[in-house]
Amino acid sequence: MITSHEKAPRLGARFRFHDELGQFIARQNREREFACACPPDATVKHMVEALGVPHTEVGLVLIDGKSAGMNERLHEGAQVEVYPHSRSEDCAPGKGGPDEVRLRFVADAHLGGLARLLRMAGFDTLYDSGFQDDEIVLLSGAGERIVLTRDTDLLKRRDVELGCHVRSLKPDQQLGELARRFPLTRQARPFSRCLVCNVELVAVARQAVEKQVPPGVWARHRRFKSCPSCGRVYWGGTHWERMRLRLGALIEIDDLAHEGC
Ligand SMILES: [Zn+2]
Repeated sequence: MITSHEKAPRLGARFRFHDELGQFIARQNREREFACACPPDATVKHMVEALGVPHTEVGLVLIDGKSAGMNERLHEGAQVEVYPHSRSEDCAPGKGGPDEVRLRFVADAHLGGLARLLRMAGFDTLYDSGFQDDEIVLLSGAGERIVLTRDTDLLKRRDVELGCHVRSLKPDQQLGELARRFPLTRQARPFSRCLVCNVELVAVARQAVEKQVPPGVWARHRRFKSCPSCGRVYWGGTHWERMRLRLGALIEIDDLAHEGC
């Protein structure tokens, strides 16, 4: 794996990967400290990824008990502890305040269901079933969007700054995974975004949509929103209510009705 350095003298370091990071490394090294011979100029990032863990999944590194950056070089005898990201509510920049960075995502071609749920919750999420890896990296904009994927090789790419490895195969469980890592509950604005175009919905006058919705719907509802891009009209009907219940079960949103029609 580290063939270019095979003839150089190696330094010995000891590693331990905590909690869910164990899923990325060789089975015999899980939940234990193990020794590893490293190239003499190896950085934390180099070794963490060589051992199988994408840099995007690492929340904290301790070398000999002290916090270390991913680009820090290792030394002979280094004791390296690698932890995953902490709980979502603790790690967001500007935590809950006006400076908190709005979460934005780009989902890979296999995560259409998750992308739809994120849009339902109001998160700006780029997705296309034809996305190629290079396109996803470009769209991630050097950290402007969080790359969502089940592909660890994509997350190991140098130009992917922010990413999240999605473990589950089911969209609802995938959203639950994200909610444990990112402050989705705090930032959600349910039913504010077109599920198809990812564009923010705008309120429209009831009279303006009379011809666009079934007569029964028009008679029963007072508030409508539409997508400025595709023109779809949204209202708080039974489909909306089902989505509200589904979303509420996943990310504990209290004020779902607030954004509804
Ligand atoms: Zn639309």
